[in-house]
Amino acid sequence: MQQILEAVGAERLTSRDWENLPVPGSYRALTIRKDETGIFEGLPTAERDPRRSLHLDDVPVPELGPGEALVVVMASSINYNTVWSSIFEPVPTFEFLTRYGRTSELGRRHDLPYHVLGSDLAGVVLRVGPGVHRWRPGDRVVAHCLSVELEDPAGHDDAMLDPEQRIWGFETNFGGLADLALVKANQLMPKPAHLTWEEAASPGLVLSTAYRQLVSHNGADMKQGDKVLIWGACGGLGSYATQLALNGGADPVCVVSSPEKADLCRAMGAEMVIDRAAEGFEFWRDGTTPNRKEWRRLGSAIRDLTGGDDPDIVFEHPGRDTFPASVYVARRGGTIVTCASTSGYDHYFDNRYLWMHLKRIVGSHFANYQEAWRANELMRRGKVYPTLSKTFPLDEAATAAHEVLQNRHQGKLGILCLAPEPGMGIEDEEFRARHAAKISIFGTVGA
Ligand code: NAP
Repeated sequence: MQQILEAVGAERLTSRDWENLPVPGSYRALTIRKDETGIFEGLPTAERDPRRSLHLDDVPVPELGPGEALVVVMASSINYNTVWSSIFEPVPTFEFLTRYGRTSELGRRHDLPYHVLGSDLAGVVLRVGPGVHRWRPGDRVVAHCLSVELEDPAGHDDAMLDPEQRIWGFETNFGGLADLALVKANQLMPKPAHLTWEEAASPGLVLSTAYRQLVSHNGADMKQGDKVLIWGACGGLGSYATQLALNGGADPVCVVSSPEKADLCRAMGAEMVIDRAAEGFEFWRDGTTPNRKEWRRLGSAIRDLTGGDDPDIVFEHPGRDTFPASVYVARRGGTIVTCASTSGYDHYFDNRYLWMHLKRIVGSHFANYQEAWRANELMRRGKVYPTLSKTFPLDEAATAAHEVLQNRHQGKLGILCLAPEPGMGIEDEEFRARHAAKISIFGTVGA
């Protein structure tokens, strides 16, 4: 690995030089283990501790197949899917690997007694498999997390509809929380040159998801002037939804749970912010009875901020706790767009408010390559910026995952893999200097 690290730091190496670097036999990787999937049995979600289930192991380098790339990972990030994998909820991810293993010989490589996690990376291509022409060893890249086979016609209009669609590093093995990663070449995108490795690695999954969910015609198809209610506006998804709303001429109404997070929303440029903790909203009475009075109180709080308007779009992901209120507060003809159910997937809502007021609920999941590419272009052009608040070394990734599970983080938490320290990897200092104020909103390099 030392030789590879030196190559990353060296100037003007050709792709031939990169091809001549030896591929190591094994690499460091953050894993969960198949024989430990029962360790949290009987424990509630909040008490399942990722620090017990996540391991830093040395694992063999997987064989490179056609259409794939082996990437040197300089940095990655914690996504909530790493948290789900580490607490074996809602199901152990080994089920996905076993299913993938049944599909083909290449799929079989993924079905192992360990699962290398991670759905983001920034790094350098080390090798490409047969049939890869667009990318070459030495290219500086980020990877989005959509893995598709595209052998079925169903995926050829929108790759998210491919029946063999998987999230890399969650439903496949060999993810990005490691020193090397195996991806399909059509997951690769150019690394934004003005960002550090850890900044570049942090937005991929959440920015692309928020882009499809909010901006794409496959999601809510947001328009200028739309009022957008954004739950968790300082979290992974929400910090990008807020930026996309502001960029697109919409008006975000940001919901967060502390004064510090409310300040961050204002620093991003949002003027309408609700502190749900200070308001003490209780959308459920005793956890089981819907509390309509509280839905109305949320609706009034939104109208107080907007001057009387209800949200055209509700950006949903907390799920069971907030969903009934989200359906209630959306305007007549409005859209509730959902990509998750963090607080529980058995949703309730009062259907009268949906059908009588002609609202729509739209399901959204990650993004196709074009949507991910467009989102990455926004990042490359400085139109959106990373929301990285803290960076951990790979051997402390489990602590970072625990912070996310406990909702003690802001924006994104970065992980240094092969990058020896924060702040490395910037190629375009001049462009960075022009965008420095925005890049530093959530934190400073190495904070
Ligand atoms: P995150 O960084 O933890 O942010 C979520 C935010 O939501 C939290 O910071 C919190 O903000 C708010 N929140 C959490 N529980 C809540 C509740 N019960 N009521 C109201 N607000 C609540 O996580 P994320 O990366 O944004 O991901 C959020 C969810 O989306 C996860 O379940 C994740 O698995 C899922 N996801 C799905 C996709 C997809 O493609 N389908 C992609 C990305 C993420 P405050 O405390 O400040 O309010």
